[in-house]
Amino acid sequence: MNQPAPTIFDKILSGEIPSYRVYEDDHVLAFLDIGPLSSGHTLVIPKERGAFLHQLSEASSAAIGRVLPRLCRAVMKATGATAYNILQNNGTAAHQEVLHVHFHIIPRHGESGLGIGWKSSSLEAPAAQKLVSRMQQALAEEGA
Ligand code: AMP
Repeated sequence: MNQPAPTIFDKILSGEIPSYRVYEDDHVLAFLDIGPLSSGHTLVIPKERGAFLHQLSEASSAAIGRVLPRLCRAVMKATGATAYNILQNNGTAAHQEVLHVHFHIIPRHGESGLGIGWKSSSLEAPAAQKLVSRMQQALAEEGA
């Protein structure tokens, strides 16, 4: 079986390169982003190696889900932010640079934080119905 390629986050996990660690448990590590978009910009990663969210085990995803709101509260308390974005990029085409699953917690402080381009279109009924049935089929194939 193919092993996912190591990334710089493996070196952070092992302590080979330093990081500002915020939180750690058996499955999860959180540390400050080295190139923050705003003060308090934090990364939350599974210890499990894997590039994309859809590849993550249930144990890792559950562990992240369990601590993410707590970490958001810590970021808000520490920085005084009252608004923030969670960003999770998958694939280089989707702006992912480090191919190890990670969630960004990006506080909004005035103009500093995540810049978002949101080019929305409209959802037409026939296309929506087709999409829903394809997605439900995919879920059924996974036994969900
Ligand atoms: P992404 O574009 O979603 O893959 O984001 C990768 C993030 O990892 C960027 O925000 C980087 O600033 C951050 N990053 C890369 N190397 C390090 C490091 N050594 N310590 C902390 N954050 C890092």
